[in-house]
Amino acid sequence: MKVLKFGGTSLGNWQRFEQASEIIIKAAEKEKVAVVLSAPATVTNTLIEMMDTAAKGESYKEVIERLLVLFKNLFDESESLIGKERKAKLEEILKNRADYWAVTSKCIAYMKGYEDSFCADVSVCGERLSCALMEQILQAKGKKAEIFDSIKAFEAKGPALNAVVNIESSRKNFAKCDFSKIDIAVMPGFGATSHDKKAVTLGRNGSDYSAACVAACLNADCCEIWTDVDGAFNADPRIVSDAHLLSQLTYREAMEMSYFGAKVLHPKTITPLATYHIPCYIKNTFKPDFDGTLISDEPDKSGLVVKSISLLEKQTMVNVSGPGMKGLVGMASRVFAAISRAEVSVSLITQSSSEYSICFCISSNDLEKVKDALNDEFELELQSGFLEPIEFKNDLSIISIVGDNMKTKKGLSARFFKALAQAGVNVVAIAQGSSERSISVVIDKKSATRAVVNTHQAFFDVQQFIEVMLVGSGNIGSALLNQIKKQKEFLKERNITLKVCGIANSKKMLLDEKGIDLDNWKEALAKDSVDVDMTKMFSWVNEHQLINPVLVDCTSNQDVANCYIEAMDEGLHVVTPNKKANTRDLAYYADLRSTALRQRRQFLYETNVGAGLPVIDNLKKLIFAGDKLIKFKGILSGSLSFIFGKLDEGMSLSEATKIAREKGFTEPDPRDDLSGMDVARKVLILAREVGFKYELSDISVESVLPKELDFTGTKEDFMKKLPTADKILSEMIEKAKSKGKRLRYVGEIDGNKCSVKIAEVDADDPLYAVKNGENALAFYSEYYTPIPFVLRGYGAGNEVTAAGVFADILRTLNWTRE
Ligand code: ADP
Ligand code: ASP
Ligand code: MG
Repeated sequence: MKVLKFGGTSLGNWQRFEQASEIIIKAAEKEKVAVVLSAPATVTNTLIEMMDTAAKGESYKEVIERLLVLFKNLFDESESLIGKERKAKLEEILKNRADYWAVTSKCIAYMKGYEDSFCADVSVCGERLSCALMEQILQAKGKKAEIFDSIKAFEAKGPALNAVVNIESSRKNFAKCDFSKIDIAVMPGFGATSHDKKAVTLGRNGSDYSAACVAACLNADCCEIWTDVDGAFNADPRIVSDAHLLSQLTYREAMEMSYFGAKVLHPKTITPLATYHIPCYIKNTFKPDFDGTLISDEPDKSGLVVKSISLLEKQTMVNVSGPGMKGLVGMASRVFAAISRAEVSVSLITQSSSEYSICFCISSNDLEKVKDALNDEFELELQSGFLEPIEFKNDLSIISIVGDNMKTKKGLSARFFKALAQAGVNVVAIAQGSSERSISVVIDKKSATRAVVNTHQAFFDVQQFIEVMLVGSGNIGSALLNQIKKQKEFLKERNITLKVCGIANSKKMLLDEKGIDLDNWKEALAKDSVDVDMTKMFSWVNEHQLINPVLVDCTSNQDVANCYIEAMDEGLHVVTPNKKANTRDLAYYADLRSTALRQRRQFLYETNVGAGLPVIDNLKKLIFAGDKLIKFKGILSGSLSFIFGKLDEGMSLSEATKIAREKGFTEPDPRDDLSGMDVARKVLILAREVGFKYELSDISVESVLPKELDFTGTKEDFMKKLPTADKILSEMIEKAKSKGKRLRYVGEIDGNKCSVKIAEVDADDPLYAVKNGENALAFYSEYYTPIPFVLRGYGAGNEVTAAGVFADILRTLNWTRE
């Protein structure tokens, strides 16, 4: 004898009913089968919604209509298989139910509420209708199948909406299920009957428990829980995309896991199975040939220490404290006796060693009951100040690690807490199961997903995550998105999951925690975006609990640069080619660095100088290794490198600028390059990097454009006026040539002076041969003298800059917060 249970998701539509029936028939070919069914997905919730709507005096008819439509559709679709007659029978049953719903709702509306047993009787209607349909399907397929009313047969006690089955007394009722006449008994899950013959339920999601109890009552050899996932995973697969399937669990492990929130099994399911040593499989209805997970007496064979991570949501922490608590015998027992009388179960308990307070968690659904129970129990103590007002902290979750082998292993908690710290999760309370089979931590619900993913990563994963929030979708931004699109798979194979979760331009922003489709981001940014707002973007990142978010600023905008501190305070790393932050006032410069340190976030700006060339990194390494900069000299502008190279060849300044502009080497307005300001910013960044406390105004800047000429007006006006400077520049070139020198636009740090100017360089200067958009940086230091340390290569262009930004983004990996 085997028990097969199908959950709501496995019965969500007609195809699924059909699929389930095939699984049942296959099993029944080998042995007798008891089938336990849930209500089709959403039905139980809708039934409860119907009662709540009626209780509030609102119109419940629309809710009933929704239920009717759902079942009518199911029955209509079944007709081609089961035929008209059977369908008519089902419609008759549905009509009776609908009448019952209408009458009960009317009563509830009149009474302005409903009793638990009333609720239980209505709640199980979904399960009963599932059974009615399945019975017809199986019979239509020629099987000897009949409904057996397990709800009547289960004798249960305890809270009416969370009752516990008395297996021994229920057994005799199950003996009436006559398997000599049938091969398949179809039974509704979820419901049972109290000793005074009132309807009760076994708790939400309780059909798993029904199946286990049926298995125990029928002495079944095996119980199979058929659901919508491949089995029990080491974390909820909806939260952790690369959760691992567990092939085997012990009863104790399964119990702790489900108790601490693994929804795949109702927490009460294991007790009857373990008591009667019935092995249980969790299997996927959509992949019936998969092995699934076996839960049994067998000791763990996997060798895993931590088997799984569970998340229990909607928790409230209750804190009973006060001077009267200390050393007083019996306070704890009074607290828990009051809770137990209120028929509430406690999910976790901690006690401070000072005995000053007792702290425990309950489901937030039970808050009102617990409040009343404790305030009644301690009325006098509260009045006299013996106890402080009882505290209730809502919006909490409990995250637990579970495994039989945990008790033999050191360092697990350290790893667990490190992972939580890494995720920026604040720990509210801690508890270890007395069996040392679990460690649980109470945390804010808003960081729950992040906590689970990071803990999973710490214990099981080599997978690392980066979520890019890109601001600026111009040349560099789009090049970066293309590179990310190209590299995504390559990185994935190397265990790096990189998603672009935000793209913003100066007007709009597009946000998607699952990752924006990089084939269509332009259309989506135009269509599905909202107005850009950096503060909103950062709160969105937090709300959606991104794991390793990185703000990537590919603008050259001052306002965006002013947001970096806020970004890091909100938990984002910052990566940028934008020079505006590093060239703002020194106070902000220092603030950026102290915020990064305090928040353990990275602020990376390798592309500020020399685009893709590793300038900042090398300079940092030299300085950290004790070297001292004596002098620096460099060509720091790709566009000016190109232009001055062309001037050497005899081209005019205006012509060279025009070509540089067409090639995308210059800023949109070439005056930004020719004025020297861009190079000045780079020199300032380098100078600050080696320790000089300069402001931008301390850099002496000589423009390429002769001072005496007028270059005002629009970009286009400027391009028209530029030829007026040609003569002056070509004369300067000729003059240098006559001395065997060349003109270069050079940034310099020399002693206490920083400058940007047109300089004549001779043939043995490292900058002499640099042209065609190349950058060259010569560092004369204590170690590198008299021959300087030189970096040379393309220092501009969208692709190299984007690649440099990309490299910085990848450097945010492995960055631990604590
Ligand atoms: P059913 O309708 O079959 O009863 P449930 O929705 O109650 O299905 O339970 C299955 C769901 O449990 C899965 O879809 C999955 O998201 C969730 N779940 C949570 N934790 C785990 C886990 N550790 N392993 C597998 N599934 C889990
Ligand atoms: N239908 C019930 C519920 O939704 C029981 C179950 O599906 O397990 O809670
Ligand atoms: Mg379930």
